Amino acid sequence: MVIDLHCHTLHSDGTDTSQGLALLGDQACLTALCLTDHDTLGGVPEFLAMQPRVRVRLLAGTELSCRFLGQCLHVLGLLVDPADAQFQARLVELRNRRDDRNQRMISRLAELGCPITYEDVEAQADSPLLSRVHFALALAAKGYVRRAPEAFERLIGDDCPGFVPRQELEPDEACRWIREAGGVPVVAHPGRFAGGSFPWDDAMADLQRRGLEGLEGYYGEYRAAEQKYFVALAARLGMVVTGGSDYHGRNKPGLRLGTGRGGLKVPDDLLDHLETRQKLGSYH
Ligand code: AMP
Ligand code: MN
Ligand code: MN
Ligand code: MN
Repeated sequence: MVIDLHCHTLHSDGTDTSQGLALLGDQACLTALCLTDHDTLGGVPEFLAMQPRVRVRLLAGTELSCRFLGQCLHVLGLLVDPADAQFQARLVELRNRRDDRNQRMISRLAELGCPITYEDVEAQADSPLLSRVHFALALAAKGYVRRAPEAFERLIGDDCPGFVPRQELEPDEACRWIREAGGVPVVAHPGRFAGGSFPWDDAMADLQRRGLEGLEGYYGEYRAAEQKYFVALAARLGMVVTGGSDYHGRNKPGLRLGTGRGGLKVPDDLLDHLETRQKLGSYH
Protein backbone atom coordinates (compact mmCIF):
# COMPACT_ATOMS: atom_id res chain seq x y z
CA MET A 1 0.00 0.00 0.00
CA VAL A 2 1.57 3.24 -1.14
CA ILE A 3 0.87 6.96 -0.80
CA ASP A 4 2.07 10.23 -2.38
CA LEU A 5 2.39 13.32 -0.17
CA HIS A 6 3.88 15.79 -2.68
CA CYS A 7 2.32 16.88 -5.98
CA HIS A 8 1.20 19.93 -7.94
CA THR A 9 -1.74 21.02 -10.09
CA LEU A 10 -2.28 23.92 -12.46
CA HIS A 11 -3.10 26.02 -9.39
CA SER A 12 0.69 26.39 -9.09
CA ASP A 13 3.21 24.98 -11.57
CA GLY A 14 1.70 21.63 -12.54
CA THR A 15 -0.57 20.96 -15.52
CA ASP A 16 -3.32 18.69 -14.11
CA THR A 17 -6.62 19.93 -12.73
CA SER A 18 -7.36 19.10 -9.08
CA GLN A 19 -10.10 16.73 -10.20
CA GLY A 20 -7.78 15.05 -12.69
CA LEU A 21 -5.12 14.60 -10.03
CA ALA A 22 -7.58 12.91 -7.64
CA LEU A 23 -8.62 10.50 -10.41
CA LEU A 24 -4.99 9.82 -11.29
CA GLY A 25 -4.25 9.02 -7.65
CA ASP A 26 -7.09 6.53 -7.72
CA GLN A 27 -5.87 4.92 -10.96
CA ALA A 28 -2.37 4.64 -9.45
CA CYS A 29 -3.96 2.67 -6.57
CA LEU A 30 -2.61 5.06 -3.94
CA THR A 31 -4.23 4.87 -0.52
CA ALA A 32 -3.60 8.59 0.19
CA LEU A 33 -2.65 11.64 -1.86
CA CYS A 34 -1.71 15.07 -0.44
CA LEU A 35 -1.88 18.09 -2.77
CA THR A 36 1.01 20.51 -2.13
CA ASP A 37 0.84 23.42 -4.57
CA HIS A 38 3.34 26.25 -4.03
CA ASP A 39 2.02 29.18 -1.92
CA THR A 40 -1.64 28.35 -2.45
CA LEU A 41 -4.53 26.16 -1.34
CA GLY A 42 -6.45 27.28 -4.45
CA GLY A 43 -6.86 23.75 -5.79
CA VAL A 44 -7.84 22.21 -2.46
CA PRO A 45 -11.65 22.73 -2.41
CA GLU A 46 -12.12 21.06 -5.82
CA PHE A 47 -9.66 18.35 -4.84
CA LEU A 48 -11.40 17.46 -1.57
CA ALA A 49 -14.79 17.63 -3.28
CA MET A 50 -13.66 14.60 -5.34
CA GLN A 51 -13.50 12.40 -2.22
CA PRO A 52 -16.89 10.70 -2.74
CA ARG A 53 -15.82 9.65 -6.26
CA VAL A 54 -12.43 8.06 -5.40
CA ARG A 55 -11.05 5.45 -3.01
CA VAL A 56 -7.74 7.27 -2.46
CA ARG A 57 -7.81 9.44 0.68
CA LEU A 58 -7.41 13.10 -0.33
CA LEU A 59 -5.41 15.42 1.93
CA ALA A 60 -4.51 19.13 1.88
CA GLY A 61 -1.06 20.70 2.02
CA THR A 62 1.17 23.36 0.50
CA GLU A 63 4.86 23.98 -0.29
CA LEU A 64 6.56 27.18 0.93
CA SER A 65 9.95 28.64 -0.03
CA CYS A 66 12.34 29.63 2.77
CA ARG A 67 15.87 30.99 3.03
CA PHE A 68 18.32 28.78 4.93
CA LEU A 69 22.13 29.08 4.92
CA GLY A 70 21.87 31.49 1.99
CA GLN A 71 19.99 28.95 -0.15
CA CYS A 72 16.37 28.28 -1.04
CA LEU A 73 14.83 25.61 1.18
CA HIS A 74 11.37 24.21 0.44
CA VAL A 75 9.10 23.38 3.37
CA LEU A 76 5.95 21.30 3.00
CA GLY A 77 2.98 22.11 5.19
CA LEU A 78 1.22 18.76 5.26
CA LEU A 79 -2.34 18.25 6.56
CA VAL A 80 -3.03 21.96 7.02
CA ASP A 81 -6.61 23.08 7.63
CA PRO A 82 -7.76 24.60 4.31
CA ALA A 83 -10.42 26.65 6.10
CA ASP A 84 -7.91 28.47 8.33
CA ALA A 85 -8.45 32.17 7.51
CA GLN A 86 -5.19 33.34 9.06
CA PHE A 87 -3.17 30.86 7.00
CA GLN A 88 -5.02 31.90 3.84
CA ALA A 89 -4.14 35.55 4.52
CA ARG A 90 -0.49 34.58 5.00
CA LEU A 91 -0.52 32.74 1.66
CA VAL A 92 -1.94 35.88 -0.01
CA GLU A 93 1.05 37.81 1.34
CA LEU A 94 3.41 35.19 -0.12
CA ARG A 95 1.69 35.40 -3.50
CA ASN A 96 2.04 39.21 -3.42
CA ARG A 97 5.78 38.83 -2.83
CA ARG A 98 5.87 36.35 -5.73
CA ASP A 99 4.14 38.92 -7.99
CA ASP A 100 6.70 41.59 -7.02
CA ARG A 101 9.49 39.16 -7.90
CA ASN A 102 7.81 38.34 -11.20
CA GLN A 103 7.58 42.03 -12.17
CA ARG A 104 11.27 42.51 -11.38
CA MET A 105 12.18 39.39 -13.34
CA ILE A 106 10.38 40.79 -16.39
CA SER A 107 12.50 43.99 -16.17
CA ARG A 108 15.65 41.95 -15.70
CA LEU A 109 14.91 39.76 -18.74
CA ALA A 110 14.37 42.89 -20.86
CA GLU A 111 17.81 44.15 -19.79
CA LEU A 112 19.21 40.81 -20.91
CA GLY A 113 17.70 41.22 -24.38
CA CYS A 114 14.70 38.94 -23.83
CA PRO A 115 11.71 41.27 -23.45
CA ILE A 116 8.49 39.54 -22.44
CA THR A 117 5.33 41.00 -20.93
CA TYR A 118 3.35 39.95 -17.87
CA GLU A 119 0.61 38.90 -20.31
CA ASP A 120 3.07 36.60 -22.16
CA VAL A 121 3.72 34.78 -18.89
CA GLU A 122 0.02 34.74 -17.92
CA ALA A 123 -0.77 33.15 -21.30
CA GLN A 124 1.25 30.08 -20.21
CA ALA A 125 -0.62 29.59 -16.92
CA ASP A 126 -4.10 28.24 -16.19
CA SER A 127 -4.34 29.92 -12.79
CA PRO A 128 -3.39 33.34 -11.38
CA LEU A 129 -0.20 32.02 -9.74
CA LEU A 130 2.77 32.64 -12.04
CA SER A 131 5.97 30.69 -11.47
CA ARG A 132 9.29 30.37 -13.23
CA VAL A 133 7.85 27.36 -15.06
CA HIS A 134 5.51 29.77 -16.86
CA PHE A 135 8.38 32.18 -17.53
CA ALA A 136 10.32 29.31 -19.12
CA LEU A 137 7.36 28.45 -21.37
CA ALA A 138 6.89 32.13 -22.32
CA LEU A 139 10.59 32.50 -23.18
CA ALA A 140 10.33 29.42 -25.41
CA ALA A 141 7.11 30.70 -27.03
CA LYS A 142 8.89 33.98 -27.86
CA GLY A 143 11.79 32.07 -29.38
CA TYR A 144 14.50 33.23 -26.92
CA VAL A 145 15.17 29.57 -26.09
CA ARG A 146 14.36 26.44 -28.10
CA ARG A 147 12.66 24.64 -25.21
CA ALA A 148 11.65 25.46 -21.63
CA PRO A 149 14.51 23.53 -19.91
CA GLU A 150 17.02 25.70 -21.79
CA ALA A 151 15.46 28.78 -20.13
CA PHE A 152 16.41 27.31 -16.72
CA GLU A 153 19.93 26.51 -17.97
CA ARG A 154 20.70 29.93 -19.47
CA LEU A 155 18.32 32.55 -18.09
CA ILE A 156 16.16 31.88 -15.03
CA GLY A 157 17.75 28.95 -13.15
CA ASP A 158 18.85 29.74 -9.57
CA ASP A 159 22.39 30.78 -10.65
CA CYS A 160 21.43 32.49 -13.91
CA PRO A 161 21.52 36.24 -14.70
CA GLY A 162 17.75 36.54 -15.24
CA PHE A 163 16.79 35.01 -11.90
CA VAL A 164 15.43 37.37 -9.25
CA PRO A 165 14.96 35.87 -5.77
CA ARG A 166 11.81 36.45 -3.77
CA GLN A 167 11.63 37.76 -0.25
CA GLU A 168 11.62 34.35 1.39
CA LEU A 169 10.47 33.17 4.81
CA GLU A 170 12.66 32.14 7.70
CA PRO A 171 12.14 28.42 8.34
CA ASP A 172 11.01 29.28 11.91
CA GLU A 173 8.23 31.49 10.56
CA ALA A 174 7.09 28.95 7.96
CA CYS A 175 6.89 26.29 10.69
CA ARG A 176 4.88 28.54 12.98
CA TRP A 177 2.42 29.37 10.19
CA ILE A 178 1.99 25.70 9.28
CA ARG A 179 1.55 24.59 12.89
CA GLU A 180 -0.93 27.37 13.57
CA ALA A 181 -2.92 26.03 10.60
CA GLY A 182 -2.93 22.58 12.19
CA GLY A 183 -0.34 21.10 9.79
CA VAL A 184 3.05 19.43 10.10
CA PRO A 185 6.15 21.26 8.73
CA VAL A 186 8.43 18.97 6.74
CA VAL A 187 11.70 19.61 4.87
CA ALA A 188 10.95 19.02 1.18
CA HIS A 189 13.51 17.09 -0.89
CA PRO A 190 16.57 17.81 1.32
CA GLY A 191 18.61 15.85 -1.24
CA ARG A 192 18.10 18.68 -3.73
CA PHE A 193 19.14 21.47 -1.32
CA ALA A 194 22.11 23.62 -2.42
CA GLY A 195 22.49 21.65 -5.66
CA GLY A 196 22.60 18.25 -3.91
CA SER A 197 25.15 16.29 -1.85
CA PHE A 198 24.79 18.74 1.03
CA PRO A 199 26.19 17.50 4.38
CA TRP A 200 22.89 17.50 6.28
CA ASP A 201 23.59 16.01 9.72
CA ASP A 202 24.13 19.23 11.73
CA ALA A 203 21.96 21.44 9.51
CA MET A 204 18.96 19.11 9.88
CA ALA A 205 19.31 19.20 13.67
CA ASP A 206 19.32 23.01 13.39
CA LEU A 207 16.12 22.93 11.31
CA GLN A 208 14.54 20.62 13.86
CA ARG A 209 15.28 23.21 16.58
CA ARG A 210 13.58 25.81 14.35
CA GLY A 211 10.38 23.73 14.25
CA LEU A 212 10.74 21.29 11.35
CA GLU A 213 9.14 18.03 12.45
CA GLY A 214 9.78 15.82 9.45
CA LEU A 215 11.77 15.37 6.27
CA GLU A 216 11.07 13.93 2.87
CA GLY A 217 12.96 10.65 2.96
CA TYR A 218 11.25 9.20 -0.12
CA TYR A 219 11.26 11.39 -3.23
CA GLY A 220 10.51 11.01 -6.94
CA GLU A 221 14.06 11.90 -7.95
CA TYR A 222 16.23 10.32 -5.22
CA ARG A 223 18.78 7.62 -5.78
CA ALA A 224 18.52 4.56 -3.48
CA ALA A 225 21.48 5.75 -1.40
CA GLU A 226 19.84 9.15 -0.76
CA GLN A 227 16.61 7.54 0.42
CA LYS A 228 18.58 5.32 2.79
CA TYR A 229 20.58 8.25 4.16
CA PHE A 230 17.55 10.48 4.79
CA VAL A 231 15.41 7.75 6.35
CA ALA A 232 18.30 6.96 8.74
CA LEU A 233 18.89 10.65 9.49
CA ALA A 234 15.22 11.13 10.41
CA ALA A 235 15.32 8.09 12.69
CA ARG A 236 18.46 9.41 14.40
CA LEU A 237 16.89 12.81 15.05
CA GLY A 238 13.38 11.59 15.87
CA MET A 239 11.82 13.36 12.90
CA VAL A 240 8.95 11.87 10.90
CA VAL A 241 9.67 10.62 7.39
CA THR A 242 7.37 11.56 4.51
CA GLY A 243 7.54 10.97 0.80
CA GLY A 244 6.14 11.95 -2.53
CA SER A 245 6.76 12.16 -6.25
CA ASP A 246 6.72 15.98 -6.70
CA TYR A 247 4.53 15.29 -9.73
CA HIS A 248 4.05 18.39 -11.98
CA GLY A 249 2.23 16.79 -14.95
CA ARG A 250 3.70 17.83 -18.31
CA ASN A 251 6.01 20.34 -16.59
CA LYS A 252 8.19 17.47 -15.30
CA PRO A 253 8.18 14.97 -18.15
CA GLY A 254 8.78 11.35 -17.22
CA LEU A 255 7.90 11.86 -13.55
CA ARG A 256 4.77 9.96 -12.54
CA LEU A 257 2.38 10.31 -9.65
CA GLY A 258 3.12 7.66 -7.00
CA THR A 259 6.06 6.00 -8.73
CA GLY A 260 8.21 9.04 -9.61
CA ARG A 261 10.90 8.05 -12.11
CA GLY A 262 9.80 4.41 -11.76
CA GLY A 263 11.02 3.01 -8.46
CA LEU A 264 9.32 5.20 -5.86
CA LYS A 265 7.21 3.43 -3.22
CA VAL A 266 6.15 5.50 -0.23
CA PRO A 267 4.80 3.12 2.43
CA ASP A 268 1.42 4.14 3.82
CA ASP A 269 2.36 3.64 7.48
CA LEU A 270 4.32 6.91 7.19
CA LEU A 271 0.97 8.68 7.13
CA ASP A 272 -0.01 7.12 10.47
CA HIS A 273 3.16 8.52 12.06
CA LEU A 274 2.53 11.90 10.43
CA GLU A 275 -1.01 12.04 11.81
CA THR A 276 0.20 11.08 15.28
CA ARG A 277 2.70 13.94 15.05
CA GLN A 278 -0.03 16.28 13.86
CA LYS A 279 -2.13 15.53 16.95
CA LEU A 280 0.84 16.10 19.25
CA GLY A 281 2.02 19.31 17.58
CA SER A 282 -1.18 21.08 16.67
CA TYR A 283 -1.97 24.42 18.25
CA HIS A 284 -5.65 23.70 17.66
P1 AMP B 1 9.37 29.84 -8.55
O1 AMP B 1 8.71 29.30 -7.30
O2 AMP B 1 8.45 30.70 -9.37
O3 AMP B 1 10.71 30.48 -8.28
O4 AMP B 1 9.64 28.59 -9.50
C1 AMP B 1 10.25 27.46 -8.99
C2 AMP B 1 9.77 26.25 -9.77
O5 AMP B 1 10.46 26.19 -11.01
C3 AMP B 1 10.12 24.96 -9.05
O6 AMP B 1 9.12 24.57 -8.15
C4 AMP B 1 10.25 23.99 -10.19
O7 AMP B 1 8.97 23.50 -10.52
C5 AMP B 1 10.78 24.85 -11.32
N1 AMP B 1 12.25 24.80 -11.50
C6 AMP B 1 13.18 25.41 -10.75
N2 AMP B 1 14.43 25.17 -11.22
C7 AMP B 1 14.27 24.36 -12.30
C8 AMP B 1 15.15 23.77 -13.25
N3 AMP B 1 16.47 23.96 -13.18
N4 AMP B 1 14.62 23.02 -14.22
C9 AMP B 1 13.28 22.84 -14.34
N5 AMP B 1 12.39 23.37 -13.47
C10 AMP B 1 12.86 24.12 -12.48
MN1 MN C 1 7.33 23.32 -8.60
MN1 MN D 1 10.17 21.94 -4.11
MN1 MN E 1 7.10 20.47 -5.13
